[in-house]
Amino acid sequence: MADNHHKVIIIGSGPAGFTAALYTARANLKPVLFEGMQPGGQLTITTDVENYPGFENGVMGPELMDTMRKQAQRFGTECLFKQITEVDFSQRPFKLKSNDEEYTADTVIVATGASAKLLGLESESHYMGFGVSACATCDGFFFKDQKVLVVGAGDTAMEEAIYLTNHAKEVTIIHRREGLRASKHMIESAEKNPKIKFMLNKVIKEIVGVEDNGVKKMTHVVLEDTRDQSIEDLTADGLFIGIGHKPNTELFTGVLDMDDVGYLKVKPGTTYTNVEGVFAAGDVADSKYRQAITAAGSGCMAAIDAERWLEEQRG
Ligand code: NDP
Repeated sequence: MADNHHKVIIIGSGPAGFTAALYTARANLKPVLFEGMQPGGQLTITTDVENYPGFENGVMGPELMDTMRKQAQRFGTECLFKQITEVDFSQRPFKLKSNDEEYTADTVIVATGASAKLLGLESESHYMGFGVSACATCDGFFFKDQKVLVVGAGDTAMEEAIYLTNHAKEVTIIHRREGLRASKHMIESAEKNPKIKFMLNKVIKEIVGVEDNGVKKMTHVVLEDTRDQSIEDLTADGLFIGIGHKPNTELFTGVLDMDDVGYLKVKPGTTYTNVEGVFAAGDVADSKYRQAITAAGSGCMAAIDAERWLEEQRG
């Protein structure tokens, strides 16, 4: 077989990808892992991870991912800082492309994760990094004693808002409806925090700012009331988007079965996708738990499923 043929190709470098790599490497399958656009995945844009078992005092997200990478490499995983841009799973060996380079694989483990959803306003991308952020733990520090907004009313938004009170002097949660979607416990924590206010039935229509010598800075948002369509300006130094996540599955449209939202479907209790020999692990196939530890667990499952499947093929 050619140099670019591998028994196992893993797409994605979060806890699911690295755990799948660790297990397949230890099974002597010499996995090749494509790290993608965000090496280390979502945990690299968080600070303290306090709920990953084994770290009594917590661990920094980037450090945890670096350790996982090194652990997988110790057993022979080859990590490539490249992105898979095209897949052809219609025949075996499977074909994968990273721009112009072509690779083939006997099995593929998809662990491409999920990304933060955005509002979709042009002004949102214009001020991203200049007041607008999708990660409170990454950027909250820059808003010391300032006034910030959080949009959304699920657990992500509550968590972001509560975290931001460590830095900001005032945090306002903007939500498009009356009812909050977050869990009771999270709502209670937010409600009893004196720095957090709620503005309900409001939609952000625009993010407005100033530009001075090429330096952009947001100054306020334009809100529309969903009940009477009245418009108002609300001044703020920052806006955190906490409206959930979307699975990174564009690459597999029409190839792998997905639910309505785009999460990959797996055979219950396994990591088998609808294409035999292609397995899915982590947030890309999990809209429910979305935790580092569950992703790592399903990465382990995918490795074992792939190993056993390869064994079966050998007959
Ligand atoms: P959710 O889908 O639960 O909530 C998204 C929120 O954003 C909703 O309030 C939704 O409004 C709002 N929203 C969505 N799109 C827009 C938009 N375009 N404009 C304005 N508002 C919008 O996502 P989460 O990420 O909060 O949570 C996902 C899952 O992860 C849940 O199961 C949650 O429990 C879990 N999670 C758990 C955490 C924990 O336990 N520590 C932390 C974070 C998440 P509407 O309600 O009107 O639809």
